[in-house]
Amino acid sequence: MTFPPLREELVGLAPYGAPQLDVPVQLNVNENPYPPSAAVVADIAASVAAVAGTLNRYPDREFTELRTSLAAYLNTDGGQGVTPAQVWAANGSNEVMLHLLQAFGGPGRTAVSFAPTYSMYPEYARDTGTRWVEGHRADDFALDPDAARELVLRERPSVVLLPSPNNPTGTALPLATVEALCQDVGDGLVVVDEAYAEFRRTGTPSALELLPSLRNLVVSRTMSKAFALAGARLGYLAAAPEICDAIRVVRLPYHLGAVTQAAALAALRHADELLARVDDLRAERDATAGWLTGLGLDVAESDANFVLFGRYADRRAVWQGLLDRGVLIREVGPDGWLRVSVGTAVEMAAFRQALTALGTPARLEEAR
Ligand SMILES: *Cc1c(COP(=O)(O)O)cnc(C)c1O
Repeated sequence: MTFPPLREELVGLAPYGAPQLDVPVQLNVNENPYPPSAAVVADIAASVAAVAGTLNRYPDREFTELRTSLAAYLNTDGGQGVTPAQVWAANGSNEVMLHLLQAFGGPGRTAVSFAPTYSMYPEYARDTGTRWVEGHRADDFALDPDAARELVLRERPSVVLLPSPNNPTGTALPLATVEALCQDVGDGLVVVDEAYAEFRRTGTPSALELLPSLRNLVVSRTMSKAFALAGARLGYLAAAPEICDAIRVVRLPYHLGAVTQAAALAALRHADELLARVDDLRAERDATAGWLTGLGLDVAESDANFVLFGRYADRRAVWQGLLDRGVLIREVGPDGWLRVSVGTAVEMAAFRQALTALGTPARLEEAR
C-alpha cells in the first residue's frame, strides 16, 4: 500500500473538472450567461440576511418550504399534481445522483446508461461500488428502444440513468422509450436527468408527465441551468414518496444548508423573470445550430442550451484556436466533436467570429 492509502481503484485517477480558465467568453460548462437581476439579487440577499441570525441552529432537515415551492414550480412545467412529499433536493443534481446510487446502487448492483452520456455518472457508480454498464446510442445520438430494452433485460440494473435532453449531445428522449424501460427494469429505477428540460423545443415533452403512472420513474432537475443559479448548488428530483423516503437514509445530516434553502426559495419566487431569458437562449441555440450547419459541419439536434458540432480531424486544435481568440468551449463527446454552450448574442457573435477565423480545419473522414 502506498501513502496516502487511497482505494486501489482510485490510484492514478485525476479529479473530474472542466478547465476553469479566465477568458472573456466562457461557453464551456452550459451555464446561463445572464446573471440574476438586481431585483433577484436583492431578494436573495434579504432572504439570506433573514436566516443569518439563526445560523447557530441547524437548518430545517426536511426543507419543507423549499420542497413545497419546488413541487409548485414543477406543476407549472410538465408536472401533474406533484406533491412536496414527492420532492427531494440536494446540493446540485449531482448530489441527487450520488444519493440515488448510494441508496439504490452499491456492491452487487448495476447502473446502466447509454453513451455518449453525462461523464459524472460512471464516477458516482465507482464511488458507490456500483457496477457500471454502458450501452450505446445510435449514430444520430437517439436511443434505439429495442437495443436499450435488450440491454436492460440482460443486465437487470437497479438504476438506469437517462439524461434527457442528453449531455453532451442535446438529444431528448421520446416518452415511449422511458415508459418501456420503466417496464423492463422491473423493480429497478429509471432516472431521467432533465437538467436542461426548460430549454426543450416546443412539442418536446417532459418525463414529469409520466410520473403519475410509473412508480419507478425518477425525474431530476436543477436550478443550475435555466434558473441561472449554478453557484447556489441546488438540484432536486420528483419521484414516488417512498423513493424520497428511502434517500433520507443515505443523506448527510442537515445536508442542505439554511443559506442554500433561503437563496433557492428567493430565486423560485422570481421563476418567471429568471426563466424569461430561456426563450432568448433557445432562439440563440437554434440560430447557432443553423449557422454551424450552414458551414457544412455535422450538428447534433439540441433541446438543451448547447450545441455539439464537428467532426474535426483534430478537435483539440480547433478548441485551442478558439481559446487563443478568447473563446472557451468544451472538448467532449465522441471523437471529433466539440460542444459550445449558448451564451448571449454578443458571446455567440464572438464564437462565430473566432471559428470563422480558423478557416476550414480538416474534417474527420470516416463515416459516423
Ligand atoms: C449540468 C448538469 C447537471 C446539473 O448539475 P448540478 O449539480 O445541478 O449543477 C445534471 N446533469 C447533467 C447531465 C448536467 O449536464
